[in-house]
Formats: sequence, C-alpha cells, structure tokens
Amino acid sequence: MRDLSNDHNWLSINTATVRQQADLIGIVEACARRGIRAVSPWRDQVAHVGLERAVAAVRDAGLKLSGYCRGGMLTSDAAHRQEMLDENRRAIDEAAALGSPCLVMVVGGLPQYSRPGSDPSKDIRAAQAQVTEALAEVLPHAQNAGMPLAIEPLHPMYAADRACVNTVRQALDICDRLDPQRTGVVGVAIDTYHVWWDSDVWSQIARIGKKRLLAFHVCDWLVPTKDMLLDRGMMGDGVIDIPAYRRAVEAQGFDGFVEVELLSSDWWSRPLDEVLDTVIARYRTVV
Ligand code: ZN
Repeated sequence: MRDLSNDHNWLSINTATVRQQADLIGIVEACARRGIRAVSPWRDQVAHVGLERAVAAVRDAGLKLSGYCRGGMLTSDAAHRQEMLDENRRAIDEAAALGSPCLVMVVGGLPQYSRPGSDPSKDIRAAQAQVTEALAEVLPHAQNAGMPLAIEPLHPMYAADRACVNTVRQALDICDRLDPQRTGVVGVAIDTYHVWWDSDVWSQIARIGKKRLLAFHVCDWLVPTKDMLLDRGMMGDGVIDIPAYRRAVEAQGFDGFVEVELLSSDWWSRPLDEVLDTVIARYRTVV
C-alpha cells in the first residue's frame, strides 16, 4: 500500500466538497495554491462557468481530473428516454473535453425520481434492467470518445431516488455483460461511503481488476447520520476503516488519485481554506 503520509501527490478534490464556498474557477485556484494535483468537477459547476473556461482553468492550473460527475439517471419512461440518452452523450463529450479519465455514472433509481415527469413505477427490478440497457446504448459513444464509464454503486438508502445499483457485485455483473473482454470501457467507482456496510465487498473488490477500477472516493460515515444526502463525514470523524478499503483497491493495482468527496452542509458552512487544509491533514493521517 502506498505511503500517503509525506505529501498529497495523490489527493484529488471532488469539487462538490466546497461547492458552496467558491465557483469552479475559485476551487481550481485554491487547489493549485496548495499543490493539490487533481479535481473531479460536477457538471453544474462546469456549466456555471462555461465549459471552455473550465477547460482552460484546469489546464492553466496544471491540474488533472480524477473523474467527472456525473452521467447517469438512466431510468425513465419511454417519453423521457431520448432526453436521457442525449444528456449522457453530452456528459461524455464534456468529460472528454476536460481530459477526465472517466465519467462517473450515478445510474438512477425509479424513473419518476431520475427523470421527473416520468410515469411513476414501483418496479425496481425493471429500473435495474433499464440501467443495463441504457448503458449498452451509450457505450458506443463512450468508446468513440475514449471515455470509460464508471458505475458508482450507491448506498441502498438511495435505491429509490438516485441509484438502484447498490453493491459492487451488481455493478460488476453489469460490466461483465457489457464488456465481457474486461477492456475497462465500463468499470466501477468505489466510494467508501457507499460500500462500507457490504459484507460482500472484499470478494467483489477482488473481482474488479485494475482496468475496471476507475475511481476511488473517500469520506466517512457519521453516527448518527442526520441527513441522507448532506451529512457525510470528514475522513477520521466516522466509523469507516478507510485504509482497509485503500489497501483492497491498491491490491488490485489501483494507483490513481484518492478523491475526497464530501457532501456536507456542516463543511459547506466553513471557510474554503479550512476545509481544504483539513482534507489534506486527514488524507495524510487517516486515509
Ligand atoms: Zn463517490
């Protein structure tokens, strides 16, 4: 396992972590000032400043991307299906323009939540089948763009509204179907927050292989968790044995950026400098 304690060369900041404190340009500049070498921007933050400005800001600061957030929301009724496919193809193109190594896919839950206006459904099995079908349909565009799609299994508390793929096993079963040669055009993003509870996770991480392990996200699980979306913990403040997960992914050959992705109204209320300095300190000591 890599020794991360002496520098933060492999730290990436998911820009949602400080989305309330600055726009993307400000975040990129703050990261560059601290010698942080990578970021993972969100589409709305890129749209806010404009794609061209975002591309230039990242390039001029000498930053890399560890991912681009996000494509997905692949479940819909028939009337919203084309909109879903078009949106995902645009996300692939943006990720390519920004030089991202992958497009993170939050696959969507039931259609009425993923694509508001879609006919309501209670059939989560149908939603899961739609995810595989929609991925198959956008995959040629991703292949042409050279943009791997990283399926991110989310904690099951999000199954209805954000992602009906909730385990690494489910994500890999989809990868096996769509990319039986395991080229890595479709793979997995592992996020400690989403997978730490899963008794099956070790054997499934061992199944991924280096080419399909496209991203590694970290933050912590707070007890009690007061909000399903906006109460993620700073690394070290919760109950996840984060180094155990890093050891497991690095045993698969993962040698990329460790992306800190912290959606937290608490940390959003603190100054940008304090958040980034705390992230760097925790990255070196508890990740
Ligand atoms: Zn994540």
